[in-house]
Amino acid sequence: MNRVPISQPEALALDVGGLTPLTTTDYPGQLAAVVFCQGCPWRCGYCHNPHLIPRDGDAAGWADVLSFLRRRQGLLDAVVFSGGEPTLQSGLLEACTTVREMGFKVGLHTAGTYPERLAAVLPVLDWVGMDIKAPFASYDRITQVPGSADRARESLSLLLQSGVEYEIRTTLHAGLLSHAQVLELAHELAGAGVRDFVLQAFRTQGCAEPLLCRGDGGNYSWDLLRSELNAMFPRFSIRSA
Ligand code: SF4
Repeated sequence: MNRVPISQPEALALDVGGLTPLTTTDYPGQLAAVVFCQGCPWRCGYCHNPHLIPRDGDAAGWADVLSFLRRRQGLLDAVVFSGGEPTLQSGLLEACTTVREMGFKVGLHTAGTYPERLAAVLPVLDWVGMDIKAPFASYDRITQVPGSADRARESLSLLLQSGVEYEIRTTLHAGLLSHAQVLELAHELAGAGVRDFVLQAFRTQGCAEPLLCRGDGGNYSWDLLRSELNAMFPRFSIRSA
């Protein structure tokens, strides 16, 4: 990425770990750029971006992103903040607001890790893709962090109350979630009022956990899951690896 001179306050806004300049898959129906934010306090074994988990404190990348976006005004529909966990960063609200004022729709990928910060940014968001990891009783086993279920549950509730468009998605690895646990999760989500749910098959790409990559993460009765969950959600789909 070409560096541009750092100016305040943009340079202090966000620790950026990367940029995808154009995607059609990260914000449904929109031509979008994806800004990858550094840092995440959770430790999911199947994480696709483990290199983003540490923060280097170098916020200069945000100025580069803004420079890029100025050249894409009128050409891109949206900007998606992804990660890592974007809500970790105190500069997220300012970054989202800046992008919106430039005329882009604003999307967010989050695991709901910081409900207080999610509540603050929801008013300037157009779409959220929220990862829900597991039935809430099994949450800490996936994130490896105690108390993560409460944070995810609160964030889900905030999102559903906000009226912001969303997609709830869950990554499936047969070594981590059984068929019965997937059904348990689906019942919890449907009970909470989720209307748009996606199951994502585990992908080895980017995953740094050899045991998960070696195992048969896709060993599910997909047709059975599809028929069971189709009946529970107005919009349900399975995203294959
Ligand atoms: S919450 Fe997301 S970014 Fe954080 S470790 Fe889990 S998969 Fe990776």
